[in-house]
Amino acid sequence: MPKEKKVTTKKVGKKKKTVLKKKILNKKDNKQETKIEEGPVLTKKEKEEKKIDKKRKKATADWSLLRGMRDLLPEDQKYWRKCFETAQNVSDYFLYKKIETPVVEETKLFIRTVGKGTDIVDKEMYTFEDKDGKKVTLRPEGTASAARAFIGHGMWNKPQPVKLWYYSPMFRHDRPQAGRYRQFWQYSCECFGADDPSVDAENVLMAYNFFKDLNLPVQIRINSIGDPEERERYKQELITYLRTKRSYLCEDCKKRINRSPLRVLDCKQEECQPVIEGAPQIIDWLQEPSKNRFMTVLEYLDELGIPYTLDTKLVRGLDYYNGMVFEIYYKDQENETAQSALGGGGRYDLLIESMGGNHTPAVGFSIGVDRVVNLMKTHFKENNCDLPDQKVDIYLAHLGKDARRVALRLLEEIRGSGIKIGYNFFKEALKNQLEAANKLEVPYVLIIGQKELQDGTIIIRDMESGVQEIIDQKKIESHLKKKLKK
Ligand code: AMP
Repeated sequence: MPKEKKVTTKKVGKKKKTVLKKKILNKKDNKQETKIEEGPVLTKKEKEEKKIDKKRKKATADWSLLRGMRDLLPEDQKYWRKCFETAQNVSDYFLYKKIETPVVEETKLFIRTVGKGTDIVDKEMYTFEDKDGKKVTLRPEGTASAARAFIGHGMWNKPQPVKLWYYSPMFRHDRPQAGRYRQFWQYSCECFGADDPSVDAENVLMAYNFFKDLNLPVQIRINSIGDPEERERYKQELITYLRTKRSYLCEDCKKRINRSPLRVLDCKQEECQPVIEGAPQIIDWLQEPSKNRFMTVLEYLDELGIPYTLDTKLVRGLDYYNGMVFEIYYKDQENETAQSALGGGGRYDLLIESMGGNHTPAVGFSIGVDRVVNLMKTHFKENNCDLPDQKVDIYLAHLGKDARRVALRLLEEIRGSGIKIGYNFFKEALKNQLEAANKLEVPYVLIIGQKELQDGTIIIRDMESGVQEIIDQKKIESHLKKKLKK
């Protein structure tokens, strides 16, 4: 048996009582070792709390989140809800119909559409074999799935354009950092079967409106990356240029020169910026029809009063884009460069055809909702316009078990009236319940006790004046509606 000997010393004055614990530990080889620990004397309650704390810490460590994953907590839900409602309103207004596609798809869908050589396909996909030995991937983006659904459901037989929207989680095994998660949400709109420049403008307008309706100032950066032939000619020119500057580029960009030179233009490494600055601009490689088309889109944006800046280095990181491309950034005057995009989109006229479908011009955008929520939290606080927390109209207090049973029934009866009721059946004392009602700043409290149970009545207490009325339980709803002017 291990022995433990305690030596207690009391210190004089205000200094805390300390204990020297002398632990004699039995080792397997029966050798004895002496360890002396010094610390404050704990009361029984403190010891208990320490034990619970230790247990909680261990449990927290045992059940930690996967890196890059996170819980979207109740306190942030008001922002998430607002984003979803705004997305829904914008989509409904422009006659987009909601679609939900599965979270897992065949891996080849993303390799063929997003493209080999892109960061998403080369580095970031959650890919695994399922139990049937099929290679599957947690979707890293939604356009490929929407296109697959368009083909799979023969949507080209429907009146064109087919306008779809979704609001879904995406997965990218990227290096986590601020605003970059491994599971994140995107609000996206895809318009299939229309190639008029007005549809490009409508797409930019929708993305812009989403932010406008959220009261977030944003800036649109826009460019045209032309058709595949124009891009190919530009790529050759770019490769020639980049080869001459190879030694100034970061290691990733050195590898990108031949494989995916356009992506060098997207690089955020500081060392690459002077090279990117001096690079030839794709706009100079566009033929008249592409240029004119792009100019028409810009004219539409001018007409709509959407502020945009031409960003000749904007190419987007996915293979399927052509023609107009755009990204959305927070309009923070002080910190214009070092931001990450809130969303982006563009034309992808050849995607459906490249997947074996009919020629179907298309345009779409995706907005990263996690980044929007982060921005809402800071921007609203800085500008004193934070979203209100969910409010209740009245509080329902009860006295005793029987009253609790009737209170629950009354809650159910009033449900659907549009009156929001606060309550807590865990609180017994009326005093505590009135305190809770006070914190919720409700104008009235309903009180049900023994007497009211017997009489079939309920008390309505005016929280400001303290005046109480007794009413028939059956008339609560109409009475409250009158009082609350609902
Ligand atoms: P992309 O099509 O890759 O440009 O993504 C569209 C938007 O999704 C971006 O502008 C971001 O707002 C958001 N997004 C992309 N990747 C992530 C990520 N790893 N974590 C959070 N948001 C992301």
